[in-house]
Amino acid sequence: MLAVVFPKPGEFNIAAVPDPVAGSGQLLVRVKATTICATDLKVFRGQFPGVVYPHIPGHEWGGEIIEIGTGVSGFRIGDKVGVEAHVGCGSCQRCAEGLYNLCENYGILEMGHAHIGFTVPGGLAELCSIPARAAYILPASLDCDHGAFTDTVGIALWAFERAGGVQAGEKVVIVGPGALGLLAVQIARALGASDVIVVGLDADIERLALAKKLGADHTLNLSEIADPIRAVRDLTSGRGADLVVEFAGSAEAARQSIEMARRGGRVVLAGATSPGRRLDVDLSTIVRGHLNVFGSVANPRGISQRANLLMQKGLVDIRPLITHHMPLMEFARAWDTFFDRRENAIRIMLHPD
Ligand SMILES: [Zn+2]
Ligand SMILES: [Zn+2]
Repeated sequence: MLAVVFPKPGEFNIAAVPDPVAGSGQLLVRVKATTICATDLKVFRGQFPGVVYPHIPGHEWGGEIIEIGTGVSGFRIGDKVGVEAHVGCGSCQRCAEGLYNLCENYGILEMGHAHIGFTVPGGLAELCSIPARAAYILPASLDCDHGAFTDTVGIALWAFERAGGVQAGEKVVIVGPGALGLLAVQIARALGASDVIVVGLDADIERLALAKKLGADHTLNLSEIADPIRAVRDLTSGRGADLVVEFAGSAEAARQSIEMARRGGRVVLAGATSPGRRLDVDLSTIVRGHLNVFGSVANPRGISQRANLLMQKGLVDIRPLITHHMPLMEFARAWDTFFDRRENAIRIMLHPD
């Protein structure tokens, strides 16, 4: 089969590699749609721990089952599935709680752990074999482009669930209008927020406009606003937001997110997932503000099923986030278009056929 291969950090090519097979407990999937995201750049640069090169990347993808390994039930040949990237070992304490994203045996394949597209080959290829536990059958009205969003919608949903969801009528701020932030806007709406405020920068102008189309009541362009904390207060009866969800990935965005919450409010920091960023915050903002501040990384087992249902019911629309479709063979063009943010790229869907 053909696959995108990172032979070593900093290099990629499209190469013919041996076809994978469905081992025990596995499914062999014909990949139909795969997107790339900022995390793929970390893998490319050798900045993601646990990746062994040469490596086939791709962790946001969907496809069709073509072979079922021994010991697998609940799937049929031809089922279309979305893939949940984190597959925990299943036996450690965190996995027992369903928190595959926190597995204590990360990267230990012999223990049954797999992080698809990271510690095991991913979906930027014609075929991919995955543990059956990673596959979530798509409702009939969804296609494999939705499958490529199964995990991503799950990540956005989990950020809310970390903070106990949204109570009907709450005012919610989303910081960072990338793909995850734009999904979060729709999830906040679906969960009953009264006001959704989206915060971005000049570079995000088009994305802020899209956020409004997807249900945001207000957008704030930080490049134009001297005091964003005050701007949020002005939009929230002078109090600050009940819930702030941050998907921007910078320390500055995290600090602002904490300052945008009301007394006793909740803040979910979900953007900066790599080590090395330091947060400079007046502690009294958290302590005297009586804030609940949550970190959130990836998503736990099974949330993907609910992510699929949100898409099926039209509560989350991924179509406006897919700005480009390209054949897998044009991976190089997709890579440049995405990382240079050409043509307002948000998500580029790559198709092996
Ligand atoms: Zn990703
Ligand atoms: Zn585990």
